[in-house]
This record gives sequence, C-alpha cells and structure tokens, in this order.
Amino acid sequence: MEKTPVHLVWLRHDLRYHDNQALYTAREAAQLDNGIVLALYIATPLSWQQHDMAMIRQDLIRRRVAALTAELAELKIPLLAVEGMDYDSCVAVIAQLLPLGVVALYAQQEYEVREHARDHAVAAKLHEQQIPCYWFDRLCVMPPGSVLTQQGDIYKVFTPFKRNWLVKLATFGVKCFPKPAVQSATAIVVPNLTPMQAGDNSSAGWPVAELEVLNRMRIFCQQRVQDYTTARDFPAIDGTSSLSAYLAIGVLSAQQCVARLQHEAGQQLEQEKSGASVWLSELIWRDFYKHILVAFPRLIKHQAFQTETDRINWPNDNRLFAAWCRGETGYPIVDAAMRQLNETGWMHNRLRMITASFLVKDLHIDWRWGERYFMSKLIDGDFAANNGGWQWAASTGTDAAPYFRIFNPVTQSERFDPSGDFIRRYLPMLASKTNKEIHWPHKPVTAKGYFRPVVEHNEARKLTLALFSAVKSQESPC
Ligand SMILES: Cc1cc2nc3c(=O)[nH]c(=O)nc-3n(C[C@H](O)[C@H](O)[C@H](O)COP(=O)(O)OP(=O)(O)OC[C@H]3O[C@@H](n4cnc5c(N)ncnc54)[C@H](O)[C@@H]3O)c2cc1C
Repeated sequence: MEKTPVHLVWLRHDLRYHDNQALYTAREAAQLDNGIVLALYIATPLSWQQHDMAMIRQDLIRRRVAALTAELAELKIPLLAVEGMDYDSCVAVIAQLLPLGVVALYAQQEYEVREHARDHAVAAKLHEQQIPCYWFDRLCVMPPGSVLTQQGDIYKVFTPFKRNWLVKLATFGVKCFPKPAVQSATAIVVPNLTPMQAGDNSSAGWPVAELEVLNRMRIFCQQRVQDYTTARDFPAIDGTSSLSAYLAIGVLSAQQCVARLQHEAGQQLEQEKSGASVWLSELIWRDFYKHILVAFPRLIKHQAFQTETDRINWPNDNRLFAAWCRGETGYPIVDAAMRQLNETGWMHNRLRMITASFLVKDLHIDWRWGERYFMSKLIDGDFAANNGGWQWAASTGTDAAPYFRIFNPVTQSERFDPSGDFIRRYLPMLASKTNKEIHWPHKPVTAKGYFRPVVEHNEARKLTLALFSAVKSQESPC
C-alpha cells in the first residue's frame, strides 16, 4: 500500500499557527496530494546553553510548544515535540521521521552561523533522498538584503534604512498568512523519540495561548499606541507593548504587528511623531539589526562593528562586574534596573540603555560581558537586538551613540523616573527617600542598607574618553 505523503513542518522561531508561511504552505501542498501535515519541534538544550539562553526563555519556549500542540490538535495537525540535545541532533531526529513518507520539509529561515550550519546539514540529508526543503524568509518584515542603497549596498545608518523600508512597505504592503485549514483526522505512528520535557515554569507569568497574545497586541495597537511617544521612556509606567518575548520566539510575527498597526492606527502613521509611527520605528530597528547581522557575520563572533574599538584595553574588574550583575553599584537607577532583570527576566528599554552604558563607560567593562549576562537572563533574548543594543550603548556598533556621549546615570534617573516610583519598586531600602533624594541617596551619608557608589561618575567618564581616544587616534587615515 502507498504511504500517505507527509509534509513535515519544522517549527523553530515561528511558534504560531496564524501567519506561519511554512505551516500554511505545507497544508496547501497536502491538500493537493491528499497528504498530511506533521509539525515538529526539537528542543536543543545543549545548544541553548552554548548560546547562553536564559532559563526563563527556555521555559517560555517549552510552555509555548505545549500550548501550540493543543492549538494545532484543533486543526487535526499533530505536533511532535522532541527532546534533542544540540543542533547536530536535529539531523538524526529528522532522519528518523523520513520513513513515515516525508515528501518535503518546510521551515522558516534563520540567519545565525550555527543555525545556518544546522539547516545546511538537514537539507543535505534530505537531498540524499531527493526530498526538497522549502525555507521561508519571514523573521523580518523586509527580508535581509531587500533594503539596499541605490548602489546596492547595505545601509549602515538607521535613518536612510528606515526611509527606504517605509517606501517598500508603501509599495508592497505586508502580507500575513491565514491559519491553515483543518485537516482530516490522521493516525500517524511516529518513531520512538524522546518527548520534549516540561520546563521549570519560571515564565508562568507570561501567557502562552496564541489568541491571548494576539489580543494583547491588538489592544496595544487599538488603545495604547497613541501614548507610546510620551510614555515609552518611563520605566515606572506600562508604556510599551511588552511583546518582545513573543516576537523573539515567534508567537507573534512582526508582520502581524505592522498589519494590525496599519489597521488600527493607519491615520496616525501619517504623522512622524505619533505613537504609531514611533512604535513602527522600533519594529524597523528590529529588522535593521537583523539585516546588519546577515551582512556582517563577524558580529555573530562577537566582534565589534567598529573594528578599531576591539583594541580598547578594558580593565574588566571582576568585583565591579559582580556589583553590576547583582544591582549593588550604589547608583539606584542602575541597581533597580538590574534587579528588574534578575527578578523578572525583562528590562525596560530605557534601562537597558542606562545599565549598558554604565557597565561600559562607568565601570570600563567589555560590552561583551554585559551582552552575555543580558542573554543569560532575558526572556526576550535575541542575538541581533541584544548585540545591536549593546554595541549601540558601547559606541562600538553601527549607527551607535558617539563614544563621547556618556549617560549620566543620576540625571537619567531624575529625568526618566522623576518620582522614584520605579526605584522604590526594586529597592525597598530607599522607600523613605524623597523624590529628590532617591536618585542619589548618598548625601550626607549613604542610606542605611544601601550600597556606597562603586565609582565616581565624572572620574570614570574621563577614563572612558581616554580609552576611546587611544584607539581612535590610531585609526588609519585611509
Ligand atoms: C543593551 C540592549 C539590549 C537589548 N536586548 C534585546 C534583546 O535581547 N531582545 C529584544 O527583543 N530587544 C532587545 N533590546 C531592544 C529593546 O530594549 C526591547 O526590544 C524592548 O525593551 C522590549 O520591550 P517591548 O516589547 O515593550 O518593546 P516596544 O517598545 O513595545 O517595541 C516593540 C518591539 O520592537 C522591537 N524593538 C524595540 N526596540 C528595539 C531595539 N532597540 N532594537 C531592536 N528591536 C527593538 C522589539 O521586538 C519590541 O518588542 C535591547 C536594547 C538594548 C539597549
């Protein structure tokens, strides 16, 4: 008897059934050859560890895969969630499924070097048996390499990239794929593979049902985005979308966000400073950093974009690094921010900029230490955005803050947490300080139970300027 053709969908950073091109295309193909769709997820904890992936992010993935299994079951699409080891194990897992009658593999493309190598190995294995692989370029709204200068070069500066990106959006629009059609019940006997394990439940505060996440995004675009420009910089306020964790693992696509934004706030998008336009800019930053990563793979090896800055001799004091990680630097805004990260797995964007700047330009620690620490804690850890953010703050990246622009953590605190409410939330020992004192609680003496400042900002600033000047003055004139 002939086997039913199996269209295998390998899910990775696209853990959703709405707007999932791989899943949708496989379902369409299965309708044509009376085949079935089998979805696959392979957990790779060893590779995750090598990538410093935070436990909370690992847990979010595991919980989301479990939820997606139930959601796909409603469409009669089985999702096989397998516990693998590292990326190398993916070839073996997929090879074991081929005898089921796999006729094609469908997956969303990924850009990092190891992921690329993994996919190459899988494609080669399938090629041996003349099984085609279809890769879909859907991680960005505009695929990498599609937004180029008139000379066909990659943009290294955000503003012209954004301008061209917007032209493309106006010209081509944004396409989202509907959920796949229900398939007829399938009894598929899968080989004996180790089922994916449950996580540690550390992400329990983050809902994982797809419709709930879509609803959050819809409500943000309908009711909150208009205040984004004014609210987004204040960590005490819930002024941003908090969707990054979902975008990072693909419960949501950026295309869905753009389409919904156009639908709910289309008129606002015509004004450059409106909340909708500013929010769209953030989604464009997301694309920008991924495009840069694809064009400059050396970034994946943690090299600085501005190569001369790799010659900076960072003092890298372990004691200062530990104080930063624990939120014990004596700078309340920095300490409260680091505690937010350690306690919740998420940190507000303004605080990511302040803490990153502080680590590099006040504590003189190599930005790569901070990049790695963030990755090991963030629920939304995303290589391109994290690397881009760190290199921006450290003045080593593309279109980065100039090196002589050094955030003063106390003035940043006064400006963006004026009432001290955010600081009080994470540093209860400063609760009794007035709104004025709380930003610098060291006068006349350090508040009881709080930490003395580990460095003096103005002195630290001078050393930063010297460290950068030393390598900048060595730059070759050509
Ligand atoms: C040092 C540093 C490290 C960072 N690390 C990460 C990271 O690992 N993962 C991550 O998703 N973002 C990272 N960011 C960017 C930004 O801080 C977060 O995306 C944002 O705080 C997430 O909150 P939100 O979903 O409420 O964002 P919103 O303000 O609602 O923005 C909407 C979406 O746009 C994207 N976005 C927003 N700002 C940026 C940006 N500057 N660069 C790229 N994409 C952006 C995110 O996907 C975000 O969910 C980092 C920024 C800095 C300065």
